[in-house]
Amino acid sequence: MRPFTYETFAARVVFGRAEGALAAEVGRLGARHPLIVTTPRTAPLATTLAGPLSVAGVFDGVRPHVPVETVDQAVELATRTGADAVLSVGGGSTTGTAKAIALRTSLPIVAVPTTYAGSEVTPVWGTTEGARKTTGRSPLVMPKVVLYDPDLTTTLPAAMTAASAMNAMAHCVEAFYAPGANPVTDLVAAEGVRVIADALPAVMSRPADAAGRAGLLYGAYLAGSAFGVAGSGLHHKICHVLGGAFGLPHAETHTVLLPYVATFNAPAVPALRTRVAPALGADDVAHGLTGLAARIGAPVSLAQIGLAEDDVDTAVRLVLEKDFGDNPRPVGEPEVRGILTAALRGESL
Ligand code: NAD
Repeated sequence: MRPFTYETFAARVVFGRAEGALAAEVGRLGARHPLIVTTPRTAPLATTLAGPLSVAGVFDGVRPHVPVETVDQAVELATRTGADAVLSVGGGSTTGTAKAIALRTSLPIVAVPTTYAGSEVTPVWGTTEGARKTTGRSPLVMPKVVLYDPDLTTTLPAAMTAASAMNAMAHCVEAFYAPGANPVTDLVAAEGVRVIADALPAVMSRPADAAGRAGLLYGAYLAGSAFGVAGSGLHHKICHVLGGAFGLPHAETHTVLLPYVATFNAPAVPALRTRVAPALGADDVAHGLTGLAARIGAPVSLAQIGLAEDDVDTAVRLVLEKDFGDNPRPVGEPEVRGILTAALRGESL
């Protein structure tokens, strides 16, 4: 027997056209005056979608990494306008801001994701104060309703489509060895890998491909669902160090690093060979991931996205400050240095 705990988080997940359906979904919650949370780029879309609703206000001050100051402003606006729900329209940073508002106000969130970040189906929140990032898990931040409309993702530029989808792929792959991995997350994550690997090349060659966009968004949902339950492991921990200390772009860092961490953990995680590799249409997980990255023209080395050889010592030291006690293979200085050096140069591990 493989003992496991599978804790689910109740949410209503709707795939379909958001326009027209959104007002009804907000109404089902008993809310009448939601606060729209969005970015300047997605604000016109958000107000169109909200159409018939009597919105309390629009907060379009979302910033990457959810600075506490922006949360203060949004909470103040929500309170002053008597908002009774938060309507989040945007990517992971927007969902993250809505979550931080909900954590403080207990307002219910209706999320309309426009990228493949997957945050809308996880109980994980994060805020930053100066250089310090605080994260946590709380059922309060789980959106009550998620409305997935693939049409809203066709405006994503190619580079962001690739990076965001590979970020979702990383959620799926890591779900096989993260601390909360279980047979159900295996099932969800394997299907996520298959769907994303199938849809991504089609969308990269035809950005408006409706079936491809629908596949990617469905894959992102599966990825977020698996990640939300399984949690994060070695790969995400290294990515967070590289993003925080060297300013490397979040999603691109995932794309480059994933084959290296998967290769490293593969000997201790048979499912990476028996389930992930076949879902990628490959006989080996690393070949499957690097092959997919090459097909979509994604970066293949950390040097390409801004890490320098001179940064490696600092990066190794910072990564080793993390706790890797739950990784399926022991992780020490030589292992971290090996992964980072190979990934920096785009060489085989
Ligand atoms: P993002 O939300 O920062 O968006 C990046 C840019 O893309 C923004 O300028 C936004 O306006 C624009 N954009 C969004 N949707 C668009 C669309 N359809 N068309 C054109 N432009 C669009 O980026 P992201 O990758 O979605 O989110 C990354 C963040 O999400 C990270 O901070 C990450 O830590 C967080 N995240 C959190 C979780 C979680 O469970 N808490 C999970 C995954 C990611």
